[in-house]
Amino acid sequence: MAEVETLSERLRRLGMGEPITRRDFIDGIAATAVAATASSPVLAAVDPDGQVSAPQDHPGYYPPALTGMRGSHPGSFEAAHALRDGAFPQPAAAATETGEQYDLIVVGGGISGLAAAYFYRAKAGAAARILILDNHDDFGGHAKRNEFALGGKIQLINGGTLGIDSPRPYSPAAAGLLNALGIDPVALAAHDADPGFYPSLSLGSGIFFDKETFGVDRLVKGKISSPEFLDQAPLSDAARRDVLRLETEPIDYLPGLSSPEKKARLSQISYRDYLLDLVKVDPSVMPLYQSRTHGEWGVGIDAVSALDVWPFGLPGFQGLKLDRGSAPHMGYTAAGYADGGSYKFHFPDGNASIARLLVRSLIPQAVPGSTVEDAVTARVDYARLDQPDNATRIRLGSTALSVTTSGPDDASLAVKVVYSRMDRALTVHAKHCVLGCWNTMIPYLCPQLPERQKTALRYLVKVPLVYTNVALRNWRAFAALGVAAIHCPGSYHSSVRLNPVTDIGSYRSPRSSDEPILIRMVRAPCSPGVSERDQHRMGRADLITTSFATFEEKIRDQLSRMLGPGSFDPAHDITAITVNRWPHGYAYEYNPLFDPDWPQGEAPHEIGRARFGPIAIANSDAAAAAYTDAAIDRGHRAVEELLAG
Ligand SMILES: Cc1cc2nc3c(=O)[nH]c(=O)nc-3n(C[C@H](O)[C@H](O)[C@H](O)COP(=O)(O)OP(=O)(O)OC[C@H]3O[C@@H](n4cnc5c(N)ncnc54)[C@H](O)[C@@H]3O)c2cc1C
Repeated sequence: MAEVETLSERLRRLGMGEPITRRDFIDGIAATAVAATASSPVLAAVDPDGQVSAPQDHPGYYPPALTGMRGSHPGSFEAAHALRDGAFPQPAAAATETGEQYDLIVVGGGISGLAAAYFYRAKAGAAARILILDNHDDFGGHAKRNEFALGGKIQLINGGTLGIDSPRPYSPAAAGLLNALGIDPVALAAHDADPGFYPSLSLGSGIFFDKETFGVDRLVKGKISSPEFLDQAPLSDAARRDVLRLETEPIDYLPGLSSPEKKARLSQISYRDYLLDLVKVDPSVMPLYQSRTHGEWGVGIDAVSALDVWPFGLPGFQGLKLDRGSAPHMGYTAAGYADGGSYKFHFPDGNASIARLLVRSLIPQAVPGSTVEDAVTARVDYARLDQPDNATRIRLGSTALSVTTSGPDDASLAVKVVYSRMDRALTVHAKHCVLGCWNTMIPYLCPQLPERQKTALRYLVKVPLVYTNVALRNWRAFAALGVAAIHCPGSYHSSVRLNPVTDIGSYRSPRSSDEPILIRMVRAPCSPGVSERDQHRMGRADLITTSFATFEEKIRDQLSRMLGPGSFDPAHDITAITVNRWPHGYAYEYNPLFDPDWPQGEAPHEIGRARFGPIAIANSDAAAAAYTDAAIDRGHRAVEELLAG
C-alpha cells in the first residue's frame, strides 16, 4: 500500500523551509511600521544621527533587486485604502506645509506620468519644475524591473509590462517619444532578440494536465491537434474527436451570414458558449480551453467574446471566412486588424527600460550612461531622484491623498496636493497637475469633480494579474522534457515559460541548460459565472488576501508536478521567488458581453478624463486601453490640455 505523505514531509519535499531569496517577512505589515528596525534597503531609513529620512535617499536603496511580494508590495497601498475607508476625512487639515512650489505635479510615476513630465518639459522648457509622486518604492508603475544576481551574473525579467506590442501602430506622439529616447524597436528586435533560440534546441510548447481537473498529472508536448498529442492527452474519446475537429476542420458554424453579420453575432456570445452551442463540442473539452484567455484578458473564455478571441488565434473560426479589419469591440489583438498592429520588442526587463530611459531624460544623473543598450544594465542611483536642485524630482513611497484647486474653469489656477509619506501628510503646490494614477483613485483624490465625472471614473475596474518570477539553479528539466512554454489549464498559474532570450549591450541571456535561469508564471484570479468587472473585483480581493507563503507553496507544488518527470527538485532547484501582484493591473477594455455600446464621447473613460481647471487626467484607464502606447498618448494629451494656448 502506498504510504501517505504527512504535511511536514510534503512541505519539506517542496522545499518550503529552504533559505531562498524572499522578503515575505514583512508580508501584510505596513512598511513604515517597521521602518526603524528592518534591514531591508527599502525599510532601513534611519540616519546615523537617529533621524528617519526617506528610504530612497539612502545608499544601497535598489528596489529592482528585491524579491518576495512585489508589484503592489506591502507598504504601497495602505494609505490609499485608508483614504477609501474614510480614515483621512480631511487630509489637508492635518498636513504639514512643505512650502514646495512646482510648475507641474504628476501623481503616478508609471509610463503615463513619466511621459507627461517629459512632454511638459519639452513644451514648457527644461527649467520647468516638476514633482512626480508615486506610492511604490520604485518608479515605472506596471513597467517594473525584477533583477536577480544568479551565479554571479545579473539576470533580468519584467515584473509587469512585457514589451512594446500594441494592436495599433504607435501614434506620432508615442512613436516620437520612443524615437527621442533612442529606442528603435525594429532595429532592436532584429539585432538583439533571439526568438529562435529555444526552438533551435527543439524546445517547444506543451500542456500540463493536472490531476484535479483531468484525473491525472501529465505534461504533454506538441501541437494540440497532432495525433501524438491527442494520444497522450488524458481526454475522453469524444473530447479528442471534438478537439481535432475544432482545431483543424474549416467548418462554417454561422452559415448564411455575411462577415459583418457574423462579427456582430460573435461579439455577443462568449467563446465558451460559441464552442458549446454552435461548434457543439463535448462539454469535457471546456477545461482545456477555459483559461486560454487568462494572460490577455484576466478572465476565462466564459467572459470573453468569440469575436475577441478570433484574431487571438483560438480555433473554431477557420471556416467562417471573417474579413480582417477593425470591428467594434475587437480590442485586444493585432492579427484581426488590417494594419497588423505595432512593432514588437521585448527588453530583458520589459518596458521598465522605457521607464528608465524616461527617467534618464528627466534626471540624467540618476541613470548613468548614454545609450539605450547601457540603460539596460545601468544601476540607477535612487538617491539622485529627489534632490532639491533637480528641475524634475521623483518622490517614491508617496501616496497622494488630495488634489484640489480653487475652481474648475481656469487652467492657470493653482493646485494643492496633499500626500502621505512615512506616516506623515505633507502639502505641495503647483501651477498644474497631471493625474497619471488609476481612475478608481481619482474621485477620492478630487472630491470637487462633478458627480457625473466621478461616477464615470469609478466604472472601470482594473484587471488583477500576477506575474510570478522564479529563479532556477538550472533548466535541465525543461531541456529534458523538450518544453520552453507550458499552458496549465487547471493549475494555480495558468502558464509557465522560460525567460525570452534577448542580448543587448553587455547583457547576455543564459544559453546553457546548466546555467541558472528565470521563469515567468502567470496567474489570473477569476471567478467564472459573473460579469468581467465582478470577476476583477473578486480577483482583487483574492490577491490582496493571499499570503506569500500560499503563493510559494502553490508555485513549488505546480513546478514539482509539471517538471518532476524531468528530474526537477523544487527543494534544490528553486533559488528565489518574486510574486509581482497586480490587483489593479491592465486598464479595463470594454466587453461587448457586459457593457453597453456607448455613443462617441459618452463612454465612461471619455467622460472621466475631462480636464478640471489646472488638473488633467492621463493614465491608460483614460484610454480604456491596456497598452504602453495608450499610456504615453494620454500623458501627451493631458499636457496638451494644460498648456493649450
Ligand atoms: C502585468 C501587466 C503586463 C502588461 N504587459 C503589457 C505589454 O506587454 N505591453 C503593453 O503595451 N502594455 C502592457 N501592460 C499595460 C501597460 O503596463 C500599461 O498600459 C501602462 O504601463 C500603464 O501605465 P500608466 O502610467 O497609465 O499606469 P501605471 O503603470 O499603473 O502607473 C500609475 C502609477 O500611479 C500610481 N498611483 C496610483 N494612485 C496613486 C496615488 N494616489 N499617489 C501616488 N501614486 C499613485 C500607481 O501605483 C502606479 O505606480 C501590462 C500591464 C500589466 C499590469
